[in-house]
This record gives sequence, structure tokens and C-alpha cells, in this order.
Amino acid sequence: MMNYDIVIIGAGPGGIFSAYELVKLKDNLKIAVFEAGSSLEKRKCPIDGEKIKSCIRCKSCAIMNGFGGAGAFSDGKYNITNQFGGTLYEYIGKKKAIELMEYVDGINVSHGGEGTKLYSTANSDIKKMCLQSDLHLMEASVRHLGTDINYIVLENLYNELKDKVDFFFDAPVERVLKNKDVYEVYTERDTAVCHSCIISAGRSGSKWMETVCKNLDIPTKSNRVDIGVRVELPAEVFAHLTDELYESKIVYRTEKFEDLVRTFCMNPKGVVVNENTNGIVTVNGHSYEDPKKHTENTNFALLVSKHFSEPFKDSNGYGESIARLSNMLGGGVMVQRFGDLIRGRRSTQSRIDESYVTPTLAATPGDLSLVIPKRILDGIIEMIYALDKIAPGTANDDTLLYGVEVKFYNMEVEIDDHLETKHKGLFVIGDCSGVTHSLSHASASGVCVARYLSECLR
Ligand SMILES: Cc1cc2nc3c(=O)[nH]c(=O)nc-3n(C[C@H](O)[C@H](O)[C@H](O)COP(=O)(O)OP(=O)(O)OC[C@H]3O[C@@H](n4cnc5c(N)ncnc54)[C@H](O)[C@@H]3O)c2cc1C
Repeated sequence: MMNYDIVIIGAGPGGIFSAYELVKLKDNLKIAVFEAGSSLEKRKCPIDGEKIKSCIRCKSCAIMNGFGGAGAFSDGKYNITNQFGGTLYEYIGKKKAIELMEYVDGINVSHGGEGTKLYSTANSDIKKMCLQSDLHLMEASVRHLGTDINYIVLENLYNELKDKVDFFFDAPVERVLKNKDVYEVYTERDTAVCHSCIISAGRSGSKWMETVCKNLDIPTKSNRVDIGVRVELPAEVFAHLTDELYESKIVYRTEKFEDLVRTFCMNPKGVVVNENTNGIVTVNGHSYEDPKKHTENTNFALLVSKHFSEPFKDSNGYGESIARLSNMLGGGVMVQRFGDLIRGRRSTQSRIDESYVTPTLAATPGDLSLVIPKRILDGIIEMIYALDKIAPGTANDDTLLYGVEVKFYNMEVEIDDHLETKHKGLFVIGDCSGVTHSLSHASASGVCVARYLSECLR
């Protein structure tokens, strides 16, 4: 049994920023971080494009797990906004949420992100241009670290923390038990006892988090699931938007069903990648800050949110089934030319090879209409035509659609304004709380709990 003041579960942005702030505010605390994945330098996805071309479903996914969490190899886009990325502001207030996100931005900048750019939608004419085509631009500032600088920032944060915090890697926590006024945290090898426990297990820890809530009788409620495709097209098509804003979050209400379709995670001159969540392969994207690593393509997701009402509660299960269907037909991620989708035919390798857009991910050519529910696919097609008005070329035949992109959200855990559960000293933060779903919100939630805890310990 090891004794700690505070145990943090998960070394993603939520866990890292909790540890960072705790160490900064109180240097005499004994803190442990248990992480299911590896240390940063050992995180290596086996896909090399030659011997291993697609996901082999490793026990611990190097992309999702390890120091840096799901965001370690991400595009490192830190959006400073209350309009998307989570609902942290509902717990701590809008002003405080923005202040914390700005604080996190400052730490990223001072730990390697000095030369990176902060983009903003404020005073942009693009908003007006969008409105003229019935498209709605969300307001945000976004710091684009890029996959390369994001890695450096994480490396610097780890080096600063490693002598002040005990890190345990490849140490998935199996159980968290409450024993009077302490928590017992069990891994296969170790047991730690602590007065306060911060759980920040992210999206990959969603299933495990459900068991923790069940065992400790913490109320939860079901959340939404977002389903859609990743669009890839020549970077020139979106250059007038991405040069000014980097990422534009645009929402469109479809004429047919009045569903909301939105752009998500835009990666100028980036690459499309596989994402493995609990063994299910979906699609995602990122890009590098270093111009030498730029591609000729821009990619972004088009997503439709699905909320379910009684009696069905398992929105993630619904998303998983759709992703499984795509994995069954395509052996992983599927790709289709927009022109083929509209003509009701599958894409073949020769049609992809003849296309003017070269895919950045080796995916299986197929037919997305056999996978994605009609209502969602109709909405995506309508949105592509709407975007074509502000970015002509979006609806070209050679535009590539990868499927499926699914954004799973954790069920919402019942927590109070301090992100504390009904059990005193047990906090649930970041994406595993269902409250955040972005780097900036997850990091801000970590700072928030650290400040509260150091106040309580005074
Ligand atoms: C490819 C990709 C690109 C992305 N790009 C962006 C982007 O550009 N901008 C943005 O805002 N967001 C992006 N996101 C989302 C962002 O990464 C997450 O919102 C963010 O990482 C959430 O932080 P977190 O700390 O809550 O969880 P995570 O980052 O998921 O970290 C949780 C950690 O907990 C560990 N863990 C889980 N269960 C256990 C357990 N039982 N015991 C011990 N450890 C456990 C996991 O291994 C993981 O390392 C991206 C995500 C992906 C996958």
C-alpha cells in the first residue's frame, strides 16, 4: 500500500493540468498519476504504411492512451470558447471557464508553443459570408500548436513534473474503492491510498468509468453521439477560411429534416488518420505546424448529433453499431468519392487512383450509403452543397468522404460546481465526466479542481 495526498487517474490533458497546478500551488503534496498507456516517448502506433497498413487493435492504443492522452498526436487545436468543446461553463460560469482556458493557453505557449499563432473569428467577414448562405460560424479563438509542437509542449510539461509527481505508466486502474474517508486505488501491481482522487480517464476510459460510477453509486445520465464523415479536398478550396481562421466551426440546419450538421476538427494541409476506441476503428484527422510536413489536402469532419429519448438510452452503442458495420464492410475505415456517392455507386480502387484528390489515409474504397443511416447521410450531402456556396469546389466529384467518423461522448457524471461527486474528495474531470470534449475544456477542468483542492488543503 502506498500513501498519497492525491491520486490522479489518467495522464491526458485533464490529469496533466491537475498535476501541474497542484505542484505549482502546493509543493509539499504527495501526488501519484496512474496511466493505462505508456510514457510519451514509448507511444508508437505500429501502423507503418508498409508492413502494417491498418489498425491491429493493440491492447492499449498508442494513439489514445499514454502521457498526453487522446490529444498527444492530435492537431493540438486549443479552442478558447464556451460555444463548443464542452459545457464546463455550466458548472463554473462562463467568465471563469474562459479565464482558465486562457491560463492553459499561457502555459502551452511558455512550454514550447511560443511561435504558434492564435486565430480568432472576432471581426471576421467570414461570418457575414456564411450567413448569406444560411451557414452559421461559431465564435472562438484557436491556438494551433500542431501535432509537432503539441508533442514538444507535452515533453516539457513531463520533464517539469517527473521529479515532483510519481508517474505509473502501463498501469490501468482496475478499481477505486471508498474506505471511510480515504480512497483505495487498485492496479494489477499496486494499491494506493489517498485522501483525494481525481479521475480523468478520457473517452477511452468511458466503459471503465461506468463501472466506477456503478460501484460507488454515482448517478449518471446518457449523452449524445455524433455520426458523420471526414471530408478531404484540395487545400485551396478552403484556403480563404483556413488562412484567416485556421479552423471554422460552421453549423447548418438542413431543409429536409431541420437537423443540425456541423463542421468539426478542420486540418488545413493535414492528414486523415485511424482512431481506435475500444477496438472500433473510426476516422479522425490532424496536421502539423511544420510546413515541411504539410500535405496538399485539407480535411474536416461533418457531423450530425443524435440524442435518444426513452426507452433507448445507449447512444454510444448506436454509434458503435454504425462504426462496426463500416469496419465489417471495409475492414476498417471506408473511403468514397462524393461523385460516386451521388451516383449511387461504390468507389473502387481504380476510381480513387484516377481521382484528382490523393487520399492521405489508405482506406478501403466502398459505399458509405450502406453504412450511414439515410437521414444522416442526406444531411451531410445537403451540407456539402451548402458549403460549396462559400467554398466552391467542396461538392466536386473527387472530394473524398471517409467513414465513419463517430464522436462518442461519455455519459454525464453527476458532479457539483467544483466537479466533485457526491463522495467528498472524489472528482471527475475532462472527457470522462461527459462535461468536456476538447483539449482546452479538459485542461481547464484540471486546473479548476487543482485550485479548489489546494484551497481546501490550506
Ligand atoms: C486523433 C484525435 C485528434 C483530436 N484533436 C483535437 C484537437 O485538435 N482539439 C481538441 O480540442 N480536441 C481534440 N481531440 C480531443 C481531445 O484529445 C480530448 O478532448 C482530450 O484529450 C480530453 O482530455 P482528457 O484528459 O479528458 O482525456 P484523454 O486525453 O482521453 O486522457 C485520458 C487518459 O486516461 C487514461 N486512462 C483511461 N482509463 C484509465 C484507467 N482505468 N486507468 C489509468 N488510466 C486510464 C488513458 O489511457 C488516457 O491517456 C482529439 C482527439 C483525437 C483522438
